[in-house]
Order: sequence, then structure tokens, then C-alpha cells
Amino acid sequence: AFDVLVVGGGPAGAAAAIYAARKGIRTGVAAERFGGQVLDTLGIENFISVKETEGPKLAAALEQHVKEYDVDIMNLQRATALVPAAAPGGLIEVKLENGASLRSKSVIISTGARWRSMNVPGEAEYRTKGVAYCPHCDGPLFKGKRVAVIGGGNSGVEAAIDLAGIVAHVTLIEFDSKLRADAVLQTKLRSLPNVTILMSAQTTEVHGDGQKVNGLSYKDRVSGELRRVDLEGIFVQIGLLPNSDWLKGTVELSPRGEVIVDSHGQTSVPGVFAAGDVTTVPYKQIIIAMGEGAKASLGAFDHLIRSSVA
Ligand code: FAD
Repeated sequence: AFDVLVVGGGPAGAAAAIYAARKGIRTGVAAERFGGQVLDTLGIENFISVKETEGPKLAAALEQHVKEYDVDIMNLQRATALVPAAAPGGLIEVKLENGASLRSKSVIISTGARWRSMNVPGEAEYRTKGVAYCPHCDGPLFKGKRVAVIGGGNSGVEAAIDLAGIVAHVTLIEFDSKLRADAVLQTKLRSLPNVTILMSAQTTEVHGDGQKVNGLSYKDRVSGELRRVDLEGIFVQIGLLPNSDWLKGTVELSPRGEVIVDSHGQTSVPGVFAAGDVTTVPYKQIIIAMGEGAKASLGAFDHLIRSSVA
């Protein structure tokens, strides 16, 4: 059995594994895809102290750093269930899709999240070529250009306000007949001179020249008419889905499906900690996920030295 079993191999999981291994305790990482969302990222310019890097490069560096330590890396392993310890201080079980199961005195959940996509023609083709999901990450790439934000919830309206300060023009596109964002955000948004708000508008296609995005089409849901907007960038803000389905019924989740953690990364299940995009901790970023992973790992170590099995 492990002392610390990390489930998920993104920035949070890599940091958790290194912090655990440096305590000299038996550490394992089971991940469906080591590297996580970083593998799907092109340029990264906000990982502090590294001026500029690329996702696959950072993912390789994460793996290399973890491999410096005695960590049992189990890549291409998908967890399907977590079984809490039968008695306080007992072993926690993590079941894998391949039928095997792993046992550990403590578990760190770091299975991350995924952006909900629009599923319209052109979206996948122009991903990282104008179609973006993270305004904090990619906003500055569209300085002086025209962009659309898809989604009128809090994250969409926040993104539109944020981008309006950087880009030339923002078109906010909401499917519903009203915005769902908090009133204070809506007021702020409507006060901005370079923002157009389109409601009852369903995005139907992303257009491009083969290299880059150059527009989108939407259907006016009132008139049924199809219209086109010329632009250079599209920020999709219709939800971030935590990868927590496998925890339903065992670990306490928020209404959005995020794992609820306290200030030490502890979840509702004794000995089970969590970090990164899968948790309730706000602002989903690499640097935050890494810090949270380190914190959860120290939390798990603290738990081990206080419980009878350690
Ligand atoms: P993830 O990176 O999502 O890793 C989750 C890990 O868990 C993966 O290894 C996954 O395979 C694994 N996993 C999932 N489910 C299971 C399961 N059931 N069993 C086993 N393993 C499982 N942030 C920045 O700071 N700067 C940027 O420039 C930036 N750009 C981005 C661009 C894109 C296109 C995207 C998608 C995200 C970007 N982000 C950026 C956000 C950043 O990538 C995330 O905040 C960060 O990766 C979260 O780390 P994590 O370890 O919590 O989760």
C-alpha cells in the first residue's frame, strides 16, 4: 500500500507527488493522461519566473521532475471509484477502470477539469488558432483585435469586462433571452463603450481562413435569421466541468460538482485531500493548481503523522 496516492497527473498532481516523495514516504501517481490540460495548451506566459513556454514542454518538465524522485507513476490509468477506509486510520481504496485497485493511507484527488465546448463546426479545428477558453491566459494575445465571448453567466461577463480593457471590441453572445451574471457585473458590462451584447443568439459555426479564426455565425433565435460577425478571437465561457463523476456519493461535492476542500486541502473523507481545478478553490490556473497540490500534500503528510497507521 502507498502512504500517499495521487490521482491525476496535471500540475496539481505533479506538485503533490514531489512534495510527498520529498518526505521519504511511499508515493504513487495514477493518471489517465500525465500532464493534464497543460498538454492541450500552446503558449504559457503566466507561469511566474518562466517568461514563455509551451504546454507540451511544461508537461514534459513536470514528468521529468516527478521522475527525479522515487514515485510510482501509473500513466493511462483511470480511477472509477473511491472507497473510504472502513475504520479510522485504515486504508483507502481507489478502483481503476482496468479492474485493479490501489490502496493507500491517504489519497490526493487532482483529476482537474475540462472546458465545456460549443460543439459547432470549426470550434475544434480553430482551437488555439483563435478559439480560446481562458481569458487570463490568452487575453493579451488579442490586444487591439475583435473578439466574441460566448456565454452570459458570471464567467462570460467577467471575461467580457476583462477583455474589453485589452482588445478593440467585444461581442458577448448569450443563448438565452437574458444574462445570468450578477447584476453588478451586468451594469459594469453595459457601461463599456466597446462591448456589444447579443441575446437569444445561438452560435452555429466558427469561420476561419484555414490558419486562423476570422468570424462566427449565429442564429437570431427570435427572427430565425442567420448572421455573421467578423472577428479574430472567440472565448468560450459556457462552463468548466470538474472531473469528479467518479467521486459522487463518497466525497462531498459543491452544486457545480467541485470537491469541497478546507484550507489544508482536506475533503469530507478522512485522509482524502484534493487540489487544483477539480476543487472549489477559485481561479483555475497552473500556478494555483501547483500551489494547492503542494498544500494538499503537506496536509496529507500532517494527517499521516497524526494517525495511528503512519
Ligand atoms: P489538469 O491539468 O486538468 O490535470 C488533471 C489530471 O487528472 C490529468 O492527468 C488527467 O488525465 C487526470 N484525470 C482526470 N480524470 C481522471 C480519472 N478519473 N482517473 C485518473 N486520472 C484522471 N493556466 C495557466 O495558468 N496559464 C495558461 O496559459 C493556461 N492556458 C490554458 C489553455 C488551455 C487550452 C486550457 C484547457 C487550460 C489552460 N490553463 C492555463 C489552465 C490550466 O491548464 C489548469 O488550471 C491546470 O492544468 C489545472 O491543473 P490540475 O492538475 O488541477 O488539472
